[in-house]
Amino acid sequence: MSTMKAMVLKKLTRLEENPAPLELETLPNPVPTEREILIKISACGVCHTELDEIEGRTPPSQFPIVLGHQVVGRVVELGPSSRAFKVGDRVGVAWIFSACGQCEFCLRGEENLCYDFKATGRDAHGGYAEYMTVSEEFAYPIPEIFSDVEAAPLLCAGAIGYRSLRLTNLKDGQNLGLTGFGASGHLVLQMARYLYPNTKIFVFARSETERAFARELGAIWAGDIGEESPEKLDAIIDTTPVWRPIVESLKNLERGGRLVINAIRKEDTDKNVLTQLDYAAHLWLEKEIKSVANVTRRDVREFLEIAARIPIKPEVQVYRLEEANHALLDLKARKIRGAKVLKI
Ligand SMILES: [Zn+2]
Ligand SMILES: [Zn+2]
Repeated sequence: MSTMKAMVLKKLTRLEENPAPLELETLPNPVPTEREILIKISACGVCHTELDEIEGRTPPSQFPIVLGHQVVGRVVELGPSSRAFKVGDRVGVAWIFSACGQCEFCLRGEENLCYDFKATGRDAHGGYAEYMTVSEEFAYPIPEIFSDVEAAPLLCAGAIGYRSLRLTNLKDGQNLGLTGFGASGHLVLQMARYLYPNTKIFVFARSETERAFARELGAIWAGDIGEESPEKLDAIIDTTPVWRPIVESLKNLERGGRLVINAIRKEDTDKNVLTQLDYAAHLWLEKEIKSVANVTRRDVREFLEIAARIPIKPEVQVYRLEEANHALLDLKARKIRGAKVLKI
């Protein structure tokens, strides 16, 4: 039986106490059954959600588990009834590993809300490894224009960013705000400029590096989190892991505007800031708050197509598979410019 290298999480832990939560292990290669395909992985994006999994805010449903849900690789073997791809095809796998296909949510195109939603790298082994299997129905061809490492962050940060942007209900010419400017923010900005050419984009970010990067990419204004934007914002997308930007954003939101929170969980470190929520200042005048949950296959497909058309080129920092812990620590420390990717 052939074996593979994988970076494995064996139990929940906190990064402050345990700077190396993942262990390099040798595992048997997965075998594709039924409509599954076996993928030889070449790149896997590193996402803030991995920190949430390791620290238990969205705990894996099994241990040990191979994390990673922005996977790019080549099909090397087909399951007995797999027909969608050929051996050698380049494919991607995203956060949605499977959904039931039969519930009311799945039937109305909201498979991201399925009660039986399974996430790649949380409920099934993901991409911090040399190989993985997935149903062919949940794999996507990767447009040729992207290299493997460029394509990886598109599969989560990009696809969920696209869903967030859709959920804002923004119309061309309306002002858009982005709080946080990491992997997702820098992709959303490029997408928004293409889809809404007359929209002005305002970015709120903690570090001057991030703010300068935002201006480089076309933000009309970039300030610190907590600053007042020079104009009211019709929609804001929050991609930070904490609460203060939510409270601060609501002050900048235009009447009838919508704040979309793109985070699977918020960290509780600054939760006390919520006591400063003031109904009149923050919520009245029909302001809305909406969260984004997961992605649908439609989001991933549409986004990959748009990203290739623009084309969006994600800025990536590359690490080796064995350096996954290092990449996670850098992410935790917000040493961010663009997206982090493991090259395998
Ligand atoms: Zn992710
Ligand atoms: Zn379902």
